[in-house]
Amino acid sequence: MDSYHKSMSQIQDSIDKAGQPDKAWALELQVLLKKPLSFYLENRKEMFTTHNTQYGAVANQDDQDEVFSSNGYKSLYHLTTLNHLRPLARQHNMAFMTYFFLKCLDKVNYFGQQRPTSGELTRDQMYISRLLLHFLAVSALNSHELVMYEAPEAGPWSDGGISASNFVGSAISPTMDLMNHSCDPNTTKFNSGRGLVLIATRDIHEGDEVSHCYYSTYPEKPLDMRRKYYQERYYFHCQCHACEVKWPEANDIPKGFNDLRDGQLKIDHEKDGMALVQQIQKIQKLGSSISLEQRNGNYSQALAYCVEFAKIIDDTLERPHSYFVMVEMAIHKLLWILHGTKRKI
Ligand SMILES: [Zn+2]
Repeated sequence: MDSYHKSMSQIQDSIDKAGQPDKAWALELQVLLKKPLSFYLENRKEMFTTHNTQYGAVANQDDQDEVFSSNGYKSLYHLTTLNHLRPLARQHNMAFMTYFFLKCLDKVNYFGQQRPTSGELTRDQMYISRLLLHFLAVSALNSHELVMYEAPEAGPWSDGGISASNFVGSAISPTMDLMNHSCDPNTTKFNSGRGLVLIATRDIHEGDEVSHCYYSTYPEKPLDMRRKYYQERYYFHCQCHACEVKWPEANDIPKGFNDLRDGQLKIDHEKDGMALVQQIQKIQKLGSSISLEQRNGNYSQALAYCVEFAKIIDDTLERPHSYFVMVEMAIHKLLWILHGTKRKI
């Protein structure tokens, strides 16, 4: 643990008693306490002045050698805040939290012993307040939930899953926070120890955008509910392909080969009927193999078959189709079982 831990543990009790509304908000206090006051004073000009949301997203014109770091304070500082879109009531709430955190810092002598007699804030306190409020806005918009995969003690790992009750904390990952959301993302992610791992679930071609899901995908929640959530939580109107063309939910998408919509088949079955039959046989065989390997606890082999399955259906069908949903869910689950943070309960 770095330097924040001692001070943070002294403050945590006060935060808990105050009934902090959003656990992710304590993140910005932890971020700040990792460094002493002198760090922020010394790096004020270099790191904590002009807020540039393009930092890391485009090549740095001033310093070609600068490398974007997922752990760097500069990367963290320049993440987007969208302050201009945040409702006034929420801004007031954040200002109140900032003042509360500032008093906590004062209590643990973060600013040293000197205090103004008038009760007004010192210049250092004003500066740290501004940073606290900024990091609060950063964490409100960029934090990720840390979760743990849980399975029943008596059953196999494949009986487990991820749910809201598995929430164990929050984290900010500046690199991942540069990525846009899609309701049909081409990646999946899982927690592994202190790390957050992102893995492609399909071939991503040069020039394609790499996307991940902030909350729920198109098969999980109706379009209106997703768009409402993203508007209220992240202040954007989702315009991913699934939203724009209004893909139906999981129950209403094709489930086999006899309920395909027009143009969904990538193989011209009138010209090459045999190729389609062979492709369907491969899909069915792989589907059975995935189930069998999972039942036998051979999760690595099941994952390898899933990857093969995903490639074959991508060659055969246009999205959306329940085969894509099923295989991407299976890949997600198998990655958690094989590499994620997990426990038996
Ligand atoms: Zn969307």
